[in-house]
Amino acid sequence: MRKQRKNEFVLTTNANHTSTPSILSFVANWLDNNGMSEEKCSAVKTATCEAISNVVDHAYDASTIAKRMSVEAYVYEDNTVKIAIRDEGKGIADIPQARASLFTTGDSIEHSGMGFTVMEAFVDTVKVRSTVNKGTSVLLFTTLE
Ligand code: ATP
Ligand code: MG
Repeated sequence: MRKQRKNEFVLTTNANHTSTPSILSFVANWLDNNGMSEEKCSAVKTATCEAISNVVDHAYDASTIAKRMSVEAYVYEDNTVKIAIRDEGKGIADIPQARASLFTTGDSIEHSGMGFTVMEAFVDTVKVRSTVNKGTSVLLFTTLE
């Protein structure tokens, strides 16, 4: 049986570093309004920040004009929380390799390949779904308490 949703939002935006802080504040405020503790909001914000940064930094080529991204959040009747960060970018060919600590395809000065490891440390479960040239969805699961 599908879990009943108690509350949700879907935010569709351009993926760039300028909008990241306001998206993260929105997510944290929304979780706070749904009864999540301040400490846990910070943890989820940290994980969400890594997923959003990945879209901005890796999902699209520099030449891509419309860099679309959506951030969705759901709270269910059993107080579980799902946050989905989706893009329509280049996708990830080898998901286990991408998730491994210290693996990066980015510039080694800017990136240490620890984003997925940070996500895993700050939420209960991280799921990655990706299709090359179609896009990626990162799903973060946690609970309100
Ligand atoms: P850091 O997060 O430490 O700055 P990083 O972003 O390279 O470095 P991860 O966040 O763990 O490290 O991501 C690992 C790799 O997975 C990235 O280098 C990139 O190749 C790939 N990746 C992650 N997210 C996406 C995405 N949304 N689209 C395409 N590739 C991605
Ligand atoms: Mg990263």
